[in-house]
Amino acid sequence: MSKLIDTWKQQQKTAQKLNNQFVKKLKIRPPKKLDEITGELHDEVFSEINCLDCANCCKSIPPLLNDNDIRKLSKTLGLSSSDFHEKYVRIDEDGDRVIASTPCPFLLDDNSCSVYEARPKACRQYPHTDRAQFVSSLKLHAENSRYCPAVFHILQRLQHKLD
Ligand code: SF4
Ligand code: SF4
Repeated sequence: MSKLIDTWKQQQKTAQKLNNQFVKKLKIRPPKKLDEITGELHDEVFSEINCLDCANCCKSIPPLLNDNDIRKLSKTLGLSSSDFHEKYVRIDEDGDRVIASTPCPFLLDDNSCSVYEARPKACRQYPHTDRAQFVSSLKLHAENSRYCPAVFHILQRLQHKLD
């Protein structure tokens, strides 16, 4: 297992408060070229983490589903859209459609995804740290650092860089 996953497991609980404080400060006064810096940190951290050693997002966060996701997944599984809904979809507390259970029913024992080519857009985009406008998702990144070791280390390295 990656060393970064081990350190996240050891430190994420105690670092959570600091991460929250850090993103609050960052929101008030974001540095110039923040997206450029975080884009580089995203590439750096993901070069050191293998998601197949982790899969914590698939084990703990039910992905959002849009119409296109449901169409593709139903087709891949050979189900009608209504059968797919019945078997795999629930409405969450925000009124969004999400995969009904965690860990995700499509996660395999080796941490790979059995519907990889048809996986939802939310899975393809997670953890959103390579997106432009890093600053507009700071609260989300602080929250995600509890679930995703990569986000945790991106925030940690960003703090060290800006100190
Ligand atoms: S669909 Fe695949 S990538 Fe998305 S949560 Fe499930 S197992 Fe993970
Ligand atoms: S939680 Fe983060 S590091 Fe772990 S599998 Fe998901 S994206 Fe990869």
